[in-house]
Amino acid sequence: MIIIMMGAQGTGKGTVAGIISESTGIKQLSTGDVFRKNIKEQTPLGIEANKYIAKGELVPDDVTVPMVVGYLDSDMAKDGIILDGFPRTLEQAEKLDEILTERGKKVDLVINLTTPREEIIDRILTRRVCPNPSCKTTYNLKLNPPKVDGICDKCGTELVQREDDSSAEAINQRLEIYENKTAPLVEYYAKRGILRTEEVSSRINRMGKEVAEEIIKDLK
Ligand code: AMP
Repeated sequence: MIIIMMGAQGTGKGTVAGIISESTGIKQLSTGDVFRKNIKEQTPLGIEANKYIAKGELVPDDVTVPMVVGYLDSDMAKDGIILDGFPRTLEQAEKLDEILTERGKKVDLVINLTTPREEIIDRILTRRVCPNPSCKTTYNLKLNPPKVDGICDKCGTELVQREDDSSAEAINQRLEIYENKTAPLVEYYAKRGILRTEEVSSRINRMGKEVAEEIIKDLK
C-alpha cells in the first residue's frame, strides 16, 4: 500500500505517519529526515540540500526525486511505503505517478492533515525532536512533552530544536511555499477519490494520535 501524508509543517504528519507505520509495518519515508541525516553526516547530498533547507526553501527536484526513487526501489518499500514530505509540488506528484506506473504501482491513499495557522506556528516553535537517527521521536513542549525535561522518553537522547524551526522567517517561508506549491495537490488527489482530509487541532481537541488510530482501524 502506498500512502502519502500531506499537511503543512507542524500539523503532525510525521507523528501520524509514525503511528500508522508502527501499527501496520509499512515503512515511513520522511524526506526531511533523510535530508537532515545527510546534513548531519555532511554527505554531498546533505551539503547540497542544506543550502535550501536552512532558508526554508524546497530542495530542487533533481536532488529530491532520485533520492526518493532510490528508496522506492529498495527493500524498505517491499510492503509499500508511507511518504511523509513527498510529493510537495505538482511536478513531484506527476513524477511520482510516472515512477509508480512504470513499476505497476499506484498511490492508494492520501492523508491530508489541516490545522489553523496560529496553532501551526505555535506548534512549530514548541516542537522538539530526538536527533537519534533510529528514533526521531517528535515532542511538543506544550501538547506532548517528554517525561524528563529535554530528554527523549524512548531512547534517552537529549532533544533538540530543528534549525529551521527556530527562525520565524524560515517558518513563514515554509508555510508560504506550502500554500502556493503543496496545497494544490489536495485538488489533484481529491479528483481521484483517494484523499482523506482530517483536522488536527486542540481547538476541537483532536490530536494526531486519535486521527492515526481511526485511520489504522479503517485500513484493517
Ligand atoms: P520537513 O521535515 O518535511 O519539514 O522537511 C524539511 C525541509 O526539507 C523542507 O523545508 C524542504 O527544504 C526539504 N524537503 C523535504 N521534502 C522535500 C521535497 N519533497 N521536496 C523539496 N524539498 C523537500
